[in-house]
Amino acid sequence: MKTLVLIESDSLTRTLISECLTGEDWCVLEAEDGQAGLDLVLKHRPTAVICDLRTPKRNGFQVCRTIREQASLKPTRVILMTVSRFANDRETAFATGADDYLVKPIVPAELLKMLAASGENGNAAPETPPSQPVITGPTLVRFWGVRGSIPSPGNETAGYGGNTSCVEVRVGDQIIILDAGSGIRRLGQSLMKEVGEEGLNVTMLITHTHWDHIQGFPFFVPAYHPKVNIRILGYEGAVHGLRGALFEQMQTAFFPVGLNQMATHLTFEEMDDMQFDLGGSVKVRTMFANHPGICLGYRLTTPHGDIVYMPDHEAYERCEVERQKAEKDNSSTGLEYARLQDDKVVEFLRGAEVVIADSQYDAIEYPTRRGWGHTCADDTAQLAARAGAKRVYLFHHDPDHNDEKMAKMIASAQEGVRQSGSSIQVFAAREGETVILGE
Ligand SMILES: [Zn+2]
Ligand SMILES: [Zn+2]
Repeated sequence: MKTLVLIESDSLTRTLISECLTGEDWCVLEAEDGQAGLDLVLKHRPTAVICDLRTPKRNGFQVCRTIREQASLKPTRVILMTVSRFANDRETAFATGADDYLVKPIVPAELLKMLAASGENGNAAPETPPSQPVITGPTLVRFWGVRGSIPSPGNETAGYGGNTSCVEVRVGDQIIILDAGSGIRRLGQSLMKEVGEEGLNVTMLITHTHWDHIQGFPFFVPAYHPKVNIRILGYEGAVHGLRGALFEQMQTAFFPVGLNQMATHLTFEEMDDMQFDLGGSVKVRTMFANHPGICLGYRLTTPHGDIVYMPDHEAYERCEVERQKAEKDNSSTGLEYARLQDDKVVEFLRGAEVVIADSQYDAIEYPTRRGWGHTCADDTAQLAARAGAKRVYLFHHDPDHNDEKMAKMIASAQEGVRQSGSSIQVFAAREGETVILGE
């Protein structure tokens, strides 16, 4: 028997729907408000959910969004129900991931038809990764956006580039995009040349939904192409879910085209596990970064070595040292704790072939920017050196740093690691540059 969770505050409607399903192969669980309904959904993983848009505690959009953010509930069919006929509500319902939209009064035949489209088993396992691509080429890293905070075009930044965070990783035929800052626009143009008859599969890993990491997404042309499948993975945003944050920035107040007008081959997976398999031959490990909100670093294990991408992170020790200076506190426990946290980061970077990491400030700027969630370039190089990484690319460059300033920061970071006896190679990520692994 299939399970249906019915979320509706009006008892008459609940009775009516239950009666419609009498004699059908459905077990109906009822809830009077959105939160109680969500609790039932999470507990029973039903085949289908019918939820009224205007339910107390959590409204229908919120219920739908929460369900869609759980990869394990992907097979669950969500039907949003309403008494109103506003076109905008209908659009928003589908944009939040609803499968159907039911306008009251309930017509039994219509309801049964919608439910008939539900799968046999709501407890299906999470979707298996896409088909395994054949590894036919090298592993490449391409920088499309290297800047932090806000795009900063102009002559003074032309050397390193002005676009915000976006890195392409190719492992054979597998295409992985790290973040969707403004650099993704040109990556999208480049990928369009590869869309053939059989389409294209792209995986996108989002570190967090701060604007500089998602603002390019509405301009990512492949997302509008029906033959491009885009699998977007990330973790819960600070306030909005992953899908919600991308959806919000494309609402009419901010952008003329809605997320739902993009191709339907767009899937969102909000992750809970700190390790997962991307299919093909790529495994991913993650670490929470020291950054406002929920922000992750990704470590990709490929056949040609590991790539660590940690664009927004504030190293702990310098932060604590500067805090103690500012607050005239010299407790040793605070410092010891900070060093332990940095050690965990070093372990995360251990032995990586390529480290791409936050280096927004220099040592002089840092004290006035403490607590903003970014690292001093010298520290990034030192942490990567301690981890025995082969190459470190300073990343998330400050929009106010011109090419001349960047050159000084690289020289300082290189000198620092040389003095500590490390052979690590220190570079600054440069827009348009390609790094080949395993050479
Ligand atoms: Zn950022
Ligand atoms: Zn950020």
